[in-house]
Amino acid sequence: MTSTRKAYFVGGGIGSLAGAAFLIRDGGMPGTQISILEAGSVLGGSLDGAGDADRGYSMRGGRMLTTDNYECTWALFKSIPSLAQPGRSVFEETLDFNEKHVSHAMARLVDSRRARVPVASMGFSMHDRVELLKLASADEAALGTSCITDHLSPGFFTTEFWFMWATTFAFQPWHSAVEFRRYLHRFMLEFSRIETLAGVKRTVLNQYDSLVVPLQRWLQAQGVHLVTECTVTDLDHRTEDGKFEVIALHCTVKGQAETRQLEHGDLVFVQNGSMTDASSLGSMGSAPAKLEKAHNGSWTLWEKLADGRPSFGRPAAFNSCVAQSNWVSFTVTLKDPAFFDQMQRFSGNDAGTGGLVTFKDSNWLMSIVLAHQPHFANQPAGVQVFWGYGLFPDRIGNFVAKAMADCTGAELLQELCGHLRFDLDTVATGNCIPCRMPYITSMFMPRAPGDRPPPVPEHTSNFAFISQFVEIPLDTVFTVEFSVRAAQMAVYQLLGIAKPIPPVTPHDKSLRTQFDALVKALK
Ligand SMILES: Cc1cc2nc3c(=O)[nH]c(=O)nc-3n(C[C@H](O)[C@H](O)[C@H](O)COP(=O)(O)OP(=O)(O)OC[C@H]3O[C@@H](n4cnc5c(N)ncnc54)[C@H](O)[C@@H]3O)c2cc1C
Repeated sequence: MTSTRKAYFVGGGIGSLAGAAFLIRDGGMPGTQISILEAGSVLGGSLDGAGDADRGYSMRGGRMLTTDNYECTWALFKSIPSLAQPGRSVFEETLDFNEKHVSHAMARLVDSRRARVPVASMGFSMHDRVELLKLASADEAALGTSCITDHLSPGFFTTEFWFMWATTFAFQPWHSAVEFRRYLHRFMLEFSRIETLAGVKRTVLNQYDSLVVPLQRWLQAQGVHLVTECTVTDLDHRTEDGKFEVIALHCTVKGQAETRQLEHGDLVFVQNGSMTDASSLGSMGSAPAKLEKAHNGSWTLWEKLADGRPSFGRPAAFNSCVAQSNWVSFTVTLKDPAFFDQMQRFSGNDAGTGGLVTFKDSNWLMSIVLAHQPHFANQPAGVQVFWGYGLFPDRIGNFVAKAMADCTGAELLQELCGHLRFDLDTVATGNCIPCRMPYITSMFMPRAPGDRPPPVPEHTSNFAFISQFVEIPLDTVFTVEFSVRAAQMAVYQLLGIAKPIPPVTPHDKSLRTQFDALVKALK
């Protein structure tokens, strides 16, 4: 590789940050030759976390990770120094934390009587078991663009298993059967511990502070150019030897048009689409604005590139139906321990050990998580922060006569206290910031082969996609791991790096013989 070769990442999500780290660590590219161009004002994309005790904290998501999967992610974070523990890696710091704060949910499901639902049994009938096994053993090609409901009968969606699996991974009944099947295989170890979430690992703080900031600092120390408020609006290309080669990037930087010309041999990595595109925040007194893809533009570049080029995928398969891909999350900042105290007594879990508490009969299918405190690097003592979400934001609440998507932060707290039968005084100091995400499960929409391009599409020479919308055999999409793996695949292929990429761990294969025998017996 020439030392003057440059690399450009379009988008500054974890996929691009990881890609830049792989270029430096494994490809030997100087950091000073790499630029990350991000439309927003901070890096990290969906892995955000911001605010302070007075204005209130907010994060669009709270992440569950595992160490039995996430092979590429942890291999990367073994190379990234911890900011809190000098001499140790982010991986080691995270592992230590999880040894001290072990997940063991005691109140995974709560019903309409405010009772903790016994979850030792998954609630399956024999019919449910047969259908689930059939779906798990079907070929992806045979499943095609079918939905989960095409394979599982209505009774399945009332089982304890469904409530726990769906809220852990954010599945809806109308989502892709192919993706659901992949989750059954990839997370097979979670079957036996889904009721306690014992396999789940957490970061020390929220994922912006614990993953994005250390990675960003490491990249900055290597000289990587981090450019924010820079939207890449189009690419110029030429075709040489039948191959698509990007030769210029058209950007809008702080409102000004700018063009970056590329030299032969330079590389371009594009984040095509974003699950948090067009997301919006509300406040205690206002509901989040209803934005759609035209307001933001994370999809626009992919739509332009894919137009007339089938090998670049089909964004319309994912971003065409907000009603099937949206939900609402919320972050609550409190300055009085009353809520945490009551919640810890009710659930039997100290904050940080319980994971999701799902109100299974709630119209919004609402869940909350009390993380270990503090959850933000700048969170003062005496302040508590928790996160929650609802999978059905278009339905009227049980305690507030409004659709969740139309609710203010104050109304979300009222609904939550209704399910918990807590006095509203418990959250009197609460500052609840709702967040609407119209495309949050767009990656789960039913898809056909070719709807997602491979990280490096055929007949391209210097160009790759890194995102939640590429095809990676066997891997599951709504994960940090998927974006990191896409980045590693793209970088290794474009640079011709011969080192192995950590494979998807075949947890399902060890259970395979047993599983195949069961399927046969049940036919
Ligand atoms: C609510 C929620 C819960 C989640 N829970 C989990 C979980 O439990 N476990 C787990 O592993 N993962 C979870 N995730 C998923 C995980 O956070 C994402 O998969 C991951 O962060 C996606 O990273 P990315 O880099 O691929 O894309 P993104 O984070 O979407 O980043 C893409 C970036 O590219 C920018 N961009 C796009 N187009 C352009 C352009 N043309 N010019 C400039 N910039 C552009 C966007 O502004 C954005 O910042 C969750 C996510 C959310 C939101």
